[in-house]
Amino acid sequence: MSSRSLRVFVAGHRGMVGSAIVRALQAEGDVECVTRPHAGLDLCDQQAVRDFFARERVDQVYVAAARVGGIHANQSFPAEFLYQNLMIAANVIHQARAAGVARLLFLGSSCIYPKFASQPIAEGALMTGALEPTNAPYALAKIAGVMLCDSYNRQYGTDFRCLMPTNLYGPGDNYHPTHSHVIPALLRRFHEARQDGAERVAIWGSGQPRREFLHVDDLARACLLTMRAPVSAYRDCTGPDGTHLNVGSGDDISIRDLAGMIAAVVGCRAAIDFDASMPDGTPRKLLDSGAIRRLGWQARIGLEAGLRSTYAEAVRSAALASCPAEAAPDAACGAAGHAAAPHANV
Ligand code: NDP
Repeated sequence: MSSRSLRVFVAGHRGMVGSAIVRALQAEGDVECVTRPHAGLDLCDQQAVRDFFARERVDQVYVAAARVGGIHANQSFPAEFLYQNLMIAANVIHQARAAGVARLLFLGSSCIYPKFASQPIAEGALMTGALEPTNAPYALAKIAGVMLCDSYNRQYGTDFRCLMPTNLYGPGDNYHPTHSHVIPALLRRFHEARQDGAERVAIWGSGQPRREFLHVDDLARACLLTMRAPVSAYRDCTGPDGTHLNVGSGDDISIRDLAGMIAAVVGCRAAIDFDASMPDGTPRKLLDSGAIRRLGWQARIGLEAGLRSTYAEAVRSAALASCPAEAAPDAACGAAGHAAAPHANV
């Protein structure tokens, strides 16, 4: 019998989630991580993905590669968000099955759920109502990924699993001035306000909406636990017709309180002005993560402690000092216009 360790392909290993999964796998020490940078393997390229899987003979796949961004990026590039995320999901899932991959974990997002889903959002709310229009193209691509996993499982007997994480933050996040999510956007905003000695910081929206956040290292533990669970345990949690599991901290916070917490973490004393004339989005977005907790997972990193370590890492790595370049067709830093204020609509 071969004694080789499990070969695990982490797609998107340079991203926030992929790098956290690689850290978690390496900490466990019993797997060989197979990785490719985007420049070395474009997952939208069907032939390249086919060749990769045929050559590498991997045992498991974590699909953490995606075209990801905040509301501004989703609204500016809806075609790329739909096309690229569809292609990544279709190519990776199809070629993984063709190459006989034993198990795969596909990462979606809580935005797959209807805009007006009842709270906390249970897995069964999928496709029961209309999507939030601002990120519908991205959400549809993620729903297609979930359906691909479910369809291949039904038709080919594969063991492809899906997790839908809530809003994430942590080391390796994207601090782009216009294309980032709310936590990195606010960290940048308060960091710059402190450096500039600004007396006021403006934030779009009323500050009333409540959102849930999860540290990416907690998500990585959830990914490994989900992948390593016996089929019967995973199926017990999803239910016989279930297609995926939610993963969230279980706690939500208003954007107003989040902004205050981030200002304190950064040491910024500026007054915060909420511009209630800007749209707020969904009033509340909290996942029901009871099923994955039954599998034995729960979040360990509290929001304030997680924000402190995330800010320290962002300063240390100079992520806040410079503007990360983005791949075409996104404009280079500044060319798309600097947002007047971070938008709380996540
Ligand atoms: P990142 O943008 O940090 O990382 C995505 C990675 O995917 C990058 O390394 C990127 O490479 C790579 N990638 C993108 N397109 C391609 C491609 N065509 N071929 C190869 N590689 C590609 O995103 P996150 O880590 O934040 O997100 C990962 C997953 O987690 C996504 O599926 C997302 O939906 C999910 N998720 C994230 C949340 C969040 O708050 N961040 C919340 C909920 C779910 P490059 O940068 O070089 O293009």
